[in-house]
Amino acid sequence: MYRTDEDLQSEDGYGLVDTHCHLDLEPLCSQLPALLDEARRAGVTGLVVPGVHPKGWEQLLRVAEQHAGVYPAFGIHPMHADTATDSTLSRLAEYATRGVAIGEIGLDSTCVVQMDCQERAFRDQVRLAVSHKLPVLLHCRKAFQRTIRILEEEGACEMGGIMHAFSGSPEMAKEFIRLGFVISLCGTVTWQGATRPVRLARGIPLESIVLETDAPDLSPHPFRNQPNRPAWLVDVLAQVAAIRGVSAACLARTTRETSRRILKIPIIS
Ligand SMILES: [Zn+2]
Repeated sequence: MYRTDEDLQSEDGYGLVDTHCHLDLEPLCSQLPALLDEARRAGVTGLVVPGVHPKGWEQLLRVAEQHAGVYPAFGIHPMHADTATDSTLSRLAEYATRGVAIGEIGLDSTCVVQMDCQERAFRDQVRLAVSHKLPVLLHCRKAFQRTIRILEEEGACEMGGIMHAFSGSPEMAKEFIRLGFVISLCGTVTWQGATRPVRLARGIPLESIVLETDAPDLSPHPFRNQPNRPAWLVDVLAQVAAIRGVSAACLARTTRETSRRILKIPIIS
């Protein structure tokens, strides 16, 4: 399943970081040892697993504790913003010290939860990230300006973070880069007929790019009818490298350094 191209078997074993994969969810969770082994053989040695719902945090922590190279982040996804009560936020503050970031958090105007509820949950969690000096994993759909305003007002720029599965223009990406964020590219860049993700991959500085699978979602071409898996990060890597006209090994190196800089994690190679 994994790539064996010579180019992908770099001298240092790649040390790629999947900056966003939901290993704690099915169908990934029940086949984790095999999936992690496959990922490592493909060169993916760091995996960041974002929290989505308070009920999942304990399981997420267990997954990370049991597997080397798996780094948890804790947070409440905008689609569950109504669970961000005072008591869950104080639990989040406890979990925060065990994670590499707060996330995934943000605003999503395509989901049913009221925007004022989403904004409150987002702002509270950004505040918590700032007070713990943690970066933020952002989920943002069709609410870019509001997201930027909250990040600025809450002083999130100091630690920055990762804009996950970004779907905007290079110009909008640069607004986030100006705030100290980096942009995470995913399988959409490999999809046939993709224009927006390709324009984005071409139009932002190389050192502001990190990579993710968002597994089990957003599988790359030609696996779109199957649940995504971390080993397929190399398909995203290969496509972005081709778009940028650099070698996969070079892109692996720069994205690894950027991931390490933002998340402050030791990447096993
Ligand atoms: Zn996600």
